[in-house]
Amino acid sequence: SLVNMGFSEDEANRAIIRCGADADICVLVDSVSASRVAEDCHSRNLSDHQVTDRCFNSFGGRKKARLMEESRKKRKRYGGGGQGNRPSLDGSDEESMPLPNPMVGFNLPGYSGSSVTRMLSKLDTGPPFFYYENVARAPKGEWAKISRNLFDIQPEFVDSLHLCAAARKRGYIHNLPIENRSPLLPLPPKTIFEAFPHYKKWWPSWDTRTHLNCLQTCVASAKLTDRIQRALVSSSNPPPKSVQKDVMDECKKWNLIWVGKNKVAPLEPHEMELLLGFPRDHTRGVGKTQRYKSLGNSFQVDTVAYHLSVLRRMFPNGVRVLSLFTGIGGGEVALHKLGIHMRVVISVEIGEASKKIFRSWWDQTQTGTLIEIDDVKSLTNDRVASFISQFGGFDLVIGGSPCNNLAGSNRHHRDGLEGKHSALFYDYVRILNFVKSTMAGRRM
Ligand code: SAH
Repeated sequence: SLVNMGFSEDEANRAIIRCGADADICVLVDSVSASRVAEDCHSRNLSDHQVTDRCFNSFGGRKKARLMEESRKKRKRYGGGGQGNRPSLDGSDEESMPLPNPMVGFNLPGYSGSSVTRMLSKLDTGPPFFYYENVARAPKGEWAKISRNLFDIQPEFVDSLHLCAAARKRGYIHNLPIENRSPLLPLPPKTIFEAFPHYKKWWPSWDTRTHLNCLQTCVASAKLTDRIQRALVSSSNPPPKSVQKDVMDECKKWNLIWVGKNKVAPLEPHEMELLLGFPRDHTRGVGKTQRYKSLGNSFQVDTVAYHLSVLRRMFPNGVRVLSLFTGIGGGEVALHKLGIHMRVVISVEIGEASKKIFRSWWDQTQTGTLIEIDDVKSLTNDRVASFISQFGGFDLVIGGSPCNNLAGSNRHHRDGLEGKHSALFYDYVRILNFVKSTMAGRRM
């Protein structure tokens, strides 16, 4: 369709890689138009500011308007925005923000698809840099709302499946540069067998999984794994297709792995640590249920580190971090693994188990200053102002606010950002805005 509309095959392919094969035609047109304008701006050597104005205001000019009209006739309703450049977030476009497929973000290590270029306005770029994370599959309209509250910056949706052996679909909104990123080395295991070669001998040929699903906050009961074992023991080998299907449904749902003949089991916490990029035994020292819960909520370290890697060159003397909803410290572990010294971390985390895990890791690995605050609500603007005076500002404001009302197995009510837990997002916004305006006022 894009070629029929007058775009080159190359442009069409690049847009499809950027936005995903199932992206709406209007999203693809937007993406091609945005690239054209960006290229045009660069070839004319316009200043950053002019580039931003042109790219975001004209966004493709008359040709695009005509093409949009054509495609609008083809489809009555469409969603706004693909991966990368800023879509218009007004009017009906605001409602939906289609998830790209493949979910590879703006670029990924070793991914051959062409990467996205984006330009942020001078006001939106750091310092302070900020990095916000949440589940990709939020109720309709929630990512548009999140984006609107974070300077209309387009989310970068990444499924960690492309970087490690487990899926984790997350959206990230940040103002970090996206060029010259580098992955953590050594690269993490990319398949189940690379991660856990010793389970190969028990893996039946009819279980064709190469990757695990998203690691959750709770795991399958012994009752379920026993039931699976009994069903397999009393079946032929290989079992009938119907039994295979039932077993595979449970294995996929609960991320079960083959640990013996006919025997499936949930991942152990240390196996989840490996998949998520944490050091072995990172979460040891608290109860198993707490370990699963905090791991299920955490960042995938390799993914976050890839995005944060650009800070290494910018801050050779280390960073001052305001870490909201620290959890078990996925962001801090990523910075540490990147070799970025944390001069200061103000860590805001309410969960006792997570705090214990994070503090113990910090004490073992860090030399910088750690200040802990329990409840984000108690981090008033006055307190933020006094930290800014004390430390001379922040280089990075990082956090993923609770997703309990957005998605996941731990959701309480799927009532979106306004839900009791997920509304803590607005504290992230409040604090970030306050840091930005205070630092701008003091020209830090
Ligand atoms: N990115 C983190 C996990 C974030 S999950 C990691 O890598 O581990 C969201 C976190 O917000 C949870 O750890 C939860 O305990 C914490 N939280 C929930 N309510 C909070 C509040 N009012 N103040 C501070 N932290 C809170």
